[in-house]
Amino acid sequence: MRTTTYCYPWDLARLGVEETLDRISGEGFDAIDLAGTYHPIDSISPREGFHYFHSARGGVFFPASEQGYGRIKPAVHADRSVIAPWPRAAEHSAKIGLDLNSWTITLFQPWIRDAYPDTARVRPGGELNGSGVCAANEDVRAYLAALCADISGQFGTAVLRLEAVLPYAADFDWMRPRVMVAIPPFAKALSSLCFCGSCQARGKASGLDVEAIRDKALNYISSAIEAGSDIADQTAALAADAEVTAFAELHVRASIELIRLVDSSVGGKSVLATNVGNPYRELLDEARNAALYREFLDAVGQVDLSPADPAENLLTAILNAELAKPHLLSTLCTVSRLPEPTVVTPAQRVAARAMAFGGKLPGLQEEVNRGTREFSLYNYGLITETEVRIFRDAIAALKC
Ligand SMILES: [Zn+2]
Repeated sequence: MRTTTYCYPWDLARLGVEETLDRISGEGFDAIDLAGTYHPIDSISPREGFHYFHSARGGVFFPASEQGYGRIKPAVHADRSVIAPWPRAAEHSAKIGLDLNSWTITLFQPWIRDAYPDTARVRPGGELNGSGVCAANEDVRAYLAALCADISGQFGTAVLRLEAVLPYAADFDWMRPRVMVAIPPFAKALSSLCFCGSCQARGKASGLDVEAIRDKALNYISSAIEAGSDIADQTAALAADAEVTAFAELHVRASIELIRLVDSSVGGKSVLATNVGNPYRELLDEARNAALYREFLDAVGQVDLSPADPAENLLTAILNAELAKPHLLSTLCTVSRLPEPTVVTPAQRVAARAMAFGGKLPGLQEEVNRGTREFSLYNYGLITETEVRIFRDAIAALKC
């Protein structure tokens, strides 16, 4: 069983690049997933003290090249010590036989949205989404293609983990949300549709009446909020509406096209991996979803599964098994948040962590049974050695 661990460059910088990579390798990990780009964050690292890191709008956390980018230039983090680990990690990991992967946040980049507002996703009501940019936008595509080629070319990364090439379901960012009404699943999927200039143009080029689609979406969302739940007959009508479904499908296809562009830009030097978190799944029938998921699998060389969506994992694993040469399935492992530290004894803490790794549904063994051959521990700097030991024990107990 392969194992990897996610890590932030700022934690690596603080803990010592070479020493930490040696420790990670010594603990049996095959690779480190080092963040090359990141979204907004407030993080606490409990390692060697109590350390806080903050980035309000996300950014780029490796020393990006000056050349090769188009209109969107990488917003490299101002503190050079935070980005310095990348070249050292590349050099040292190669020396000790640890794979270096780039954990690459793609669309959830509010800093791009702020600097280039025309690249932002646009909500059905016409407002710019606060969290990120659209896969259909040509400048966003060119930027991500250049970014991935830059990382792969500079550091010889084994895998580029492209996080969320499909946008997250209509969300409310890292802000403090004020959403006092229930937005049921079908309404939420509709509110994830993007009406940016690029998506509108793509819709119109496909012969769709984009404004009519927008009206249908807004009317439905209002009705569902008023009703407090999805409305069966209206849901069925929209799910059978050829224009709405075609528009949703265009959104998924935009992300597939993005992956293909990145792939040609990277030129086979790194394996591309992605998760298939699809916010439009509710809008499409089983056959259309399966066809689109197959296209996703065709576009990548590895698939990352998230414990957040067991149904999606199952569909992906089934389709993956049908490939002539199935991709490596990799599953993210994360620990639940602990109860208040004041009421937790060390023994309770170990039990809670073991439960989080071993008792969660679907458990790790179930993931193995469905085809997972790699587990990725989230996230080295945010947990203590106790969690690493529990994770290693859980992995050692798996049967495959
Ligand atoms: Zn768009």
